[in-house]
Order: sequence, then C-alpha cells, then structure tokens
Amino acid sequence: MKDSTLALHYGYEKDKEKTMQVPIYMSSAYEYQDTDHAARLFNLQEEGNIYTRIGNPTTRVFEKRIAALENGIDALATASGMSAIFYSIANLVKNGDNVIISNKLYGGSITLSTQTLKQFGIKAKYFDIKNPEMLEELIDENTKAILFESIANPALNVADFEIISEIANKRGIITICDNTIATPYSLKPINLGIDIVVHSASKYLSGNGTVIGGCIIESKSAKEKLKGDRYPQFNKPDDSYHGLIYNEKFDNPFIARSRLALLRDYGAVISPFNSWLLILGLETLHLRIERHSYNALEIAKFLSSHKKVKKVSYPFLNNDENYNLAKKYLKYGSGILSFELSSYEEAKNFVKKLKIFKLVTNIADTKSIVTHPASTTHQQLNKEELKNAGISEGLIRLSVGIEDVEDLIKDLDEALNS
Ligand code: PLP
Repeated sequence: MKDSTLALHYGYEKDKEKTMQVPIYMSSAYEYQDTDHAARLFNLQEEGNIYTRIGNPTTRVFEKRIAALENGIDALATASGMSAIFYSIANLVKNGDNVIISNKLYGGSITLSTQTLKQFGIKAKYFDIKNPEMLEELIDENTKAILFESIANPALNVADFEIISEIANKRGIITICDNTIATPYSLKPINLGIDIVVHSASKYLSGNGTVIGGCIIESKSAKEKLKGDRYPQFNKPDDSYHGLIYNEKFDNPFIARSRLALLRDYGAVISPFNSWLLILGLETLHLRIERHSYNALEIAKFLSSHKKVKKVSYPFLNNDENYNLAKKYLKYGSGILSFELSSYEEAKNFVKKLKIFKLVTNIADTKSIVTHPASTTHQQLNKEELKNAGISEGLIRLSVGIEDVEDLIKDLDEALNS
C-alpha cells in the first residue's frame, strides 16, 4: 500500500462496535482473566495489555501506523519528542560512553546531549553536518550512537545520508535520525540505511498544533548492529526480567527494550487521547505536506528578491547550498524556511509588524508561525554554540502554514516595508 492509504487504514482492527474511527481507550489498567494470565503477561510469555505506562490499544494503532509509514518494523510512542530522543540514546549508552551529534540540531537536542547526558557520564562530540567524512576520525570504541536531523532545525541543512550510513555501518554504530521536519511523506531515513528514526510528533505528524508527543521507529537493520560487542545490554541477561536477553527474544530489540525497560522506569508515556489526535493528524499528513511545501517555496522565492533580506535558506531554492542534497533525498521541502535581516533590532521590528504569522515557539502548525531563535529556542546556547548552530542575531525562522499563499506574502511584504 502507498503512504496515503496506510495513513488512513493501517494497524486498526475493528472490534464488535465497528467504529470507523479508532476508539480512545482512556484506561490506566486492564482486567486479567486470572492470576495465571497476569503472570504470563508480566513474564512476557503472552502479549496483552497490562498498564498504560507500558502500552495502550489506541497508542498501539498510532505506533503501528507510524512504523509502517517510516518503513520500520516497530515503533514506540512517547510523551514528547525530547523523551523519544532521550530514550533512543539512553537505550544505547552507559557511563563512560560517547555519542556523536550533528552541529546543526534542534536546541533541546543539543542541551540534552551536551549538558544533561554529561551528568550521567556520557560525552557528546560534534560532527559538521556539511563534512560528515569527519565521523571516521571521531568514532572510537566507546561511541554508541550518531544523532542528526534529516533537515536541521532551524539551519535547514539536508543530511548526506549516503556518507553517514556508510561510515556508521562500516563501524557498527547505531544511527539515529530525527525526521521531524522532513516527515516520512518526503523522506524515509530507514530506506537510506538509518537504524533508528525519531520524531517530535508535536509537529507535522499531529499537524494542528494540538499535541506534545514523540515516537521512536526501529529498522530491520538495527538488530544486526545491536548484536555487536558495543551493545552488551542487548545480548546479556536483564535481571529485571529474570534473565531475558533482548536480542534472543525479540525481532525488535530496540523498541522492546525502550518499552520494557525505559518506558517502565522513566515513564514518559503519551496520553491515549494524544495518540488519538496523532492518528487523526497522520490521516492528512500527505495533503498538508504538499501545501506547506508549495507555500514555503513561493515565500522563499519572494524573500530572495526582497532588498532587505540578506539571505534565504530553503532546500528547494535552486541557489541554496542544500539544493543538490534536497533534490537527491527529498520529495518535498517542508514548510520551514529561514532568512536573515541585518540586526536583532530589525528582526524584532519585523516580527512586531506581522499580522497573520504569529510569534510562537513552535513549528509545523497548520497556521503560520514566526520565530526569532536567538531570543527564544536557542537562547540557552552561548555565543560559540549559536555560531555552530548557524544562528545569527537577525535570523528569522518561518513555519509556513496552509493559508492562502498570497495572503501570507502580503503579510510579509507589509512587515518588511514598514
Ligand atoms: N526535534 C526537533 C527537530 C524539534 O524541532 C523539536 C521541537 O521543536 C524536538 C525534537 C522536541 O520535540 P518536543 O517539543 O515534542 O519535545
């Protein structure tokens, strides 16, 4: 089946009520048949519902659907994109290990990797997304993961999948790709050799700016790498499950351990209601991405010809530094673009004058949004980190919605000229 059909039907088996829409199972717990049944569930001898922190039938439909759309073998939904990224790293590392991260990442992923993980004895090393060959030099025996974004937020660099996956595969390192901005409708990292995909589902997957959620998707290829000596936690008995060995018991060891150990103990579980909103969101993902991308390209062309704009970044502008990679890997450019005004003051004034674009710290809503990263999303970074992330004081990020593009261009034009 093609993506737009999968997004509407996959993973939902109707119960006797035959509801067209997936039911919302708002229940914390589930009744067992008897104590033997409960024991079999707890011992992982039988699949079934135990407690919503570990799994929920509504959430399961979302998980199956996003796994199918990303061409993965399984998925885990989490309470936020940040918890999905944290779990995907925490699943692989222990004290003394390191992860290699792209120098162009969402600000929260940078602080997680360089500040919070440091407190657990895990080091983060940067690689230049424009020069992924340097991964060869950075990988050592304690490297457990390479984290990058398919389209970086907000710098919009498109990753060179061929080089990243070739080096990582040669050295047996798990790759984690944040596919939040591109979405599986435009690009499927797993088809390009990536092991684990993560999303902030709060963004395009939900689409309407209603939900905070995240997900992790496992590829078929991950299991082979997890058999390596680098990842003993997948090949040695887990005492908390009477000696369970993830790689022996499961075809989806990465998701199984994320659910059974990390979700169990850290507990960043998604609400079934939010999972249901994500199911609704996925139904229209393909239509929205086409419209977001069309509007954004028209706006990028308009801004490129405006005298007050120093530089526009949008992967599908044919003079953009990412154009060749965008052509190679992406079906659509998404709705995110950025451009530079000459100063902090000019950026501030421009934002104040906008009427349709709203000043909001979010992206990927159906409604258009403007952000000034230096004063908001990336404010916690120091000057050097800001420079590394490609953020100047006059940088403006637009998340172009699905309104009429003529109205949006008029709004931008008036704010730039006033
Ligand atoms: N990854 C990317 C690319 C993001 O843009 C964001 C949030 O903006 C996140 C992860 C974090 O997601 P969440 O806000 O759902 O925790």
